[in-house]
Amino acid sequence: VAGEITSAFCMTEPAPGAGADPSNLRTRATRVDGGYVIDGHKWYSTGGGDAGFLIVMARTSDDARRGATLFVVDRHAEGVEHVRDIGTMGEPLLAHREAEMRFHGVRVTDDAVLGAEGDGFALAQRRLVPARLTHCMRWLGLASRTLEMCKAYVTTRESFGQVLARHQMIQKKIADAASAIHAGNLMTFHCAWMLEQGHAKEARPYSSMAKNHVARLLCSVLDDAIQMHGSLGYSEDLPFASWYRHARAARIADGPDEVHDIVVARDFLLGKLELLV
Ligand SMILES: Cc1cc2nc3c(=O)[nH]c(=O)nc-3n(C[C@H](O)[C@H](O)[C@H](O)COP(=O)(O)OP(=O)(O)OC[C@H]3O[C@@H](n4cnc5c(N)ncnc54)[C@H](O)[C@@H]3O)c2cc1C
Repeated sequence: VAGEITSAFCMTEPAPGAGADPSNLRTRATRVDGGYVIDGHKWYSTGGGDAGFLIVMARTSDDARRGATLFVVDRHAEGVEHVRDIGTMGEPLLAHREAEMRFHGVRVTDDAVLGAEGDGFALAQRRLVPARLTHCMRWLGLASRTLEMCKAYVTTRESFGQVLARHQMIQKKIADAASAIHAGNLMTFHCAWMLEQGHAKEARPYSSMAKNHVARLLCSVLDDAIQMHGSLGYSEDLPFASWYRHARAARIADGPDEVHDIVVARDFLLGKLELLV
């Protein structure tokens, strides 16, 4: 609460471990007297290098649904190795980098377990649904600011005898961006409303739908912003290039597009997703 320490979430592993499919989880927590011993390899743990503590997902059994457990691990505990910060396409936000971490026989006591043994997959989902919406809120803010900057440019810059905003192909880009941002706001608002009503489980496919829609629109709005600003848009004089590099991760982090599409299609086909019509 005082903002003195940060945490990192360690789920993703290098192949053949957990990634788009968390059931590939390889990091293991072995039961010992009074606690567990954790061995494994994680990467892309945002802020892992400078975190005060890590939330580590590890396998505690081979049960398909209850095989994973979340552990709170002191970042500086014996056996926790910060291998490196991984260089990525985008600049780090708030100085947090994507860390590669190894766990060499890390000893934790029973009270390091979040919830109960076997709750790992369910707790991760419970955490990820609201987390997705806060991503959407930030990305919508960024897309909205980008569109305002486009408005300022296309209403003042002239080509072929008129301001850019009078060319219909420019109007199409503006209309697409405005409609996508508006739809993204509605999806995010609706899903947040479901969470507020206590429908966390039912909200899951809507959070996937919102996350995919907003991640894609952010990339396309930034791509069009670069186009509408010409070479200025491609330059480092404006922030679009940096924002675009950052935005591209949105379609991978917290589950790639394809995995969220699978959730939306599956729940729609099972009749678990009602469209607002
Ligand atoms: C900036 C950033 C921050 C991140 N922060 C964290 C973090 O803090 N903690 C953490 O644990 N992880 C984090 N991640 C990791 C992220 O959650 C994973 O990268 C993501 O879940 C995909 O896993 P993977 O990279 O192993 O892809 P893989 O599992 O190797 O999949 C590769 C690609 O295959 C395709 N694919 C996979 N399954 C299917 C399918 N069923 N159908 C069709 N196509 C499919 C997708 O295109 C996918 O991108 C972060 C990633 C990034 C980029």
